[in-house]
Amino acid sequence: MKKIYYLITLLGVLVSLAACNNDTDLDPRSIFPDGVDKATQNDFDRWVLTNYTYPYNIQFEYRYSDKEAHVEYDVVPAEYDKSIAVAKLVKHLWVDAYNELVGRDFLRQYSPRMIQLIGSAEYKEDGSEVLGTAEGGMKIFLNKVNLLDIENPDLEIIKFYFIKTMYHEFGHILQQTKNYSTDFNAISTDYQGPSWVNVGDYENSGSTEALEMGFISAYASSEAGEDFVEILSFYVVYGKEYWENMLSLAGESGATKMLLKYALIKDYLDIKWGIDIEKLEQIVQRRMGEISELNLESLD
Ligand SMILES: [Zn+2]
Repeated sequence: MKKIYYLITLLGVLVSLAACNNDTDLDPRSIFPDGVDKATQNDFDRWVLTNYTYPYNIQFEYRYSDKEAHVEYDVVPAEYDKSIAVAKLVKHLWVDAYNELVGRDFLRQYSPRMIQLIGSAEYKEDGSEVLGTAEGGMKIFLNKVNLLDIENPDLEIIKFYFIKTMYHEFGHILQQTKNYSTDFNAISTDYQGPSWVNVGDYENSGSTEALEMGFISAYASSEAGEDFVEILSFYVVYGKEYWENMLSLAGESGATKMLLKYALIKDYLDIKWGIDIEKLEQIVQRRMGEISELNLESLD
């Protein structure tokens, strides 16, 4: 945890999962970006086909492509070795967690069509950092891949930058596919819009301001849809114990709102999707403990 605070302090930026916009320019025809065909496939390309593309129809892109990247940001491509590690981590902690809970058909049907890795961060004009985006439920960007130290992987970096982003962005895909109760939107009446960047965030600075307002993170205070997927992703990826700790830091008023919202999310996932969020949390937390058994340095 400390490492992440330090890092963010160093960068002097606010971290967000901003820009979950709905435009999409995904070209569904090509498996590989420009210039990569079967003849130039490497071992990782073949691993991706076997583990992502054939079973789930997911393109897992680690190569930088101007066509797919956000042109408004200056970004660095993801390093090859680190991309392999992130591919294995996302498979273990996201793909296989959902498989374990509800079977393979679920992601086969609803998974994003593309996961695009970016080596560096993307920064918005307000100085906030974009962790990931989901465009029209089709494409998820994972940024900061080059931050990962594959010999000494930091669990906080894995959780914060990659796995929570996957659950957050996939949460948008779920909520865009099947509506949740509008009761959710009425629990908090003080959504901040773009001013969320001024709200104190626990992960960013240790501030309890967002929590006391009834939000799990500052970004959750931006609008109801973000609030929804922030609770979902924090609960599953950071775990029940973390959630309960946050409730105690939120005070009575903040905790009451967070618990009401959580109850609606739990019902929504159960009724609309047949997903037991408590079981999902247990599966993900157990799998977090298995990271040391993954060989992140090779495709084996
Ligand atoms: Zn979002």
